[in-house]
Parts: sequence; structure tokens; C-alpha cells
Amino acid sequence: MIENGKYSHGHKVAKLESALAAYTGARFVIGVNSGTDALVLLLRAAGLRPGDEVVVPAFSFIASASSVVLAGGRPVFADIEPDGYGIDPASVAAVAGDRTRFVMPVHLFSQLVDIDRVLDVAWRLGLTVVEDSAEAIGMRHRGTHAGLLGAGGVLSFFPTKTLGAIGDAGAVLTNDPRIADTADALRHHGRFGRTIDNFPGISTETGLPGMNSKMDDIQAAVLLAKLTRLDADIARRARLAAHYTELLTALPGVRKLPAARPGGVFYVYVIEAEARDDLAAHLSAQGVQTEVYYPVPLHLQPCFRDLGHRSGDFPNAEAACRHTLALPLYPDMSTADVEKVCGSIRDFYRGRP
Ligand SMILES: *Cc1c(COP(=O)(O)O)cnc(C)c1O
Repeated sequence: MIENGKYSHGHKVAKLESALAAYTGARFVIGVNSGTDALVLLLRAAGLRPGDEVVVPAFSFIASASSVVLAGGRPVFADIEPDGYGIDPASVAAVAGDRTRFVMPVHLFSQLVDIDRVLDVAWRLGLTVVEDSAEAIGMRHRGTHAGLLGAGGVLSFFPTKTLGAIGDAGAVLTNDPRIADTADALRHHGRFGRTIDNFPGISTETGLPGMNSKMDDIQAAVLLAKLTRLDADIARRARLAAHYTELLTALPGVRKLPAARPGGVFYVYVIEAEARDDLAAHLSAQGVQTEVYYPVPLHLQPCFRDLGHRSGDFPNAEAACRHTLALPLYPDMSTADVEKVCGSIRDFYRGRP
């Protein structure tokens, strides 16, 4: 690849886009620089106008909301459901107003959002659904891949994701040719015309002020290689997750285990735990690396202070921030590793009053 001299937006990227279209069933896959850029481009391509409001769950990665600002819109937060991590349709209906035009369900951790209910509330309120499916490769709702349940979605290939590159990369997924053409142009300085090979046929005129969000071919090459074992990796993750669930069920101190909803993928294995931070410190001292994904809910992030939220506004999101802990989960992990982690958790709670 270094010798052929085509490092960005080249043949490997086009090949990866086709392979991902085959894997997900998307009519269009547009390879870009990151999952965050994919969200920005998707929102713009789906017709977001300056000042439009987008309903976003208060419990998510920051990019779900910052992408709205970067695209020129305004995030409006909603709570998540009490028994999962998906946006609560009742909360969406409560916060949506005259300027609200989109809702962004986020498929977090190992489960799909209850999408039928989200689509239903979106239809009633006249909102366009754009999915933050950055974590959701391999997740399918009755056969339809995440990201294709509304107007479009995204994938992130950040190294820690289920399908990870060796740097940043992402993609827009859609079945809508207009969204696809606009996202395609926006990633490349607003130039319309989808081709490679020194871009014959591509317009040198800029139809829209766009970005430079092209994907590197080296990332595409890595992803193409890893895509061939993605389903085997996902199956291995599921077996490890089942082992965790078996060992952690009914353990004192462990408040909640991931619920098995159909169509999910164990991108991470997230539990809810009493004294979560102390447990994480205990595990760290035993050489077990855990992760608190979102310690601060989005509505209380300093960058959204001007929206005027206070603690207590979205209790389910705030509870999730306090109690969730991601345990180690990766395909090369052994069942003995899972047993070691669970043994350390058991020891921690046994030693407490
Ligand atoms: C990872 C992630 C993103 C952003 O993807 P990047 O490739 O890191 O920019 C957005 N939303 C969610 C929910 C994510 O997990």
C-alpha cells in the first residue's frame, strides 16, 4: 500500500464500503474519518438546518450530542428507559417541541434500543430517526442491521469497537440515495460524484461547504482483513458474556446484568454494581482493567451548561452513570480470565459489611 501511493479515499476504501454493504445489507456505505464525523455528515445529509433540534439520550458518549452542535443543530436531552440504556419514547414526547426535527436513538453496549417504540413516537411527532449505531455492528432488529431502521446510521471503527481499525475511521449507512450522495460529497469538500482513481467524473465544483473526512486506505485494509473474522469474534464474545452471566447471577452487590434482548452483540459486558468505584479500584489492584464509560450524563457536561439542566432532570441516565461498569471482554480472552474477574468481584462484596 505504501508503494502504490494511494493512501486516502482509494480502492481499499471502496472495497471496504462494498464489503460493509454486503455485511449490513445497506444500499450505501460511505467510509469516513471517524464515527463522530459520520454522525455530523449524516445529520447534515438528512437535512438538518441551522437551529433544528435533535432529541438525544442523556446517557451516551459525548459525540452523540456534540455531533448535533457541529452539524449546526441543538441537542435536546431525553431520559433513558429504567430497565435498559435506550432512549425513553415517553421522554422523547415530553421534550420535543416546535423546532424538533430529529431523534437520535443510541444503541449502547450490548443491546438495540426498543426501536419499534422509538419509530412509533417519531412517526407521531413527525421526527426523522437518525441512529447512533456507532457501537452496533452486527446488531440486527428482525434481520435489519442497526443504522438502517430509520433514515440512516453510522459505524465507528475506533480501535476498541467490535470491528476496530488501527486508528480512527467510521462510516455512514443508509438506504436513501439522497442522503448517500450528500454524505459522499460532504466527506470530500462538498464535491458531488462518487468515483475513485484520481476521481474521474468527480466534480471540481463545490456544491456544498464540506469537510475533509476521507478514510485512510490503511485503515480500510485492516478492517477488510478483520471483517472476515467478525462473526467468529461476535460468537466468541457471546460465549464469554454467557459465562459472565452464569457466574455473576445472584451475586450480592451486583444489581443488574445485561438483559438478553434478541439481535444484540456483546460489544462490551456492562453490569450495574453497588459501590461501583470501590469495586473498580479493587479490580484494578487485582490487575483487572474495567471501564466506566459515561460517568457524567450529557445534560450535566460543562459544554451544555447553557441548556440550563440540573442534577435530577434525568434520573435514569444519572443512575446509569453512577452504577455501570464495563468488565473486560475481547475475543482473545479465555474462560479462565472470566472466572478470575468474577472471583475478584465475589471477594470484594464478601469483604464488605
Ligand atoms: C464510539 C462512539 C462514537 C464515536 O465514534 P468515533 O469513531 O470514536 O468518533 C459515537 N457514539 C457512540 C455511542 C460511540 O460509542
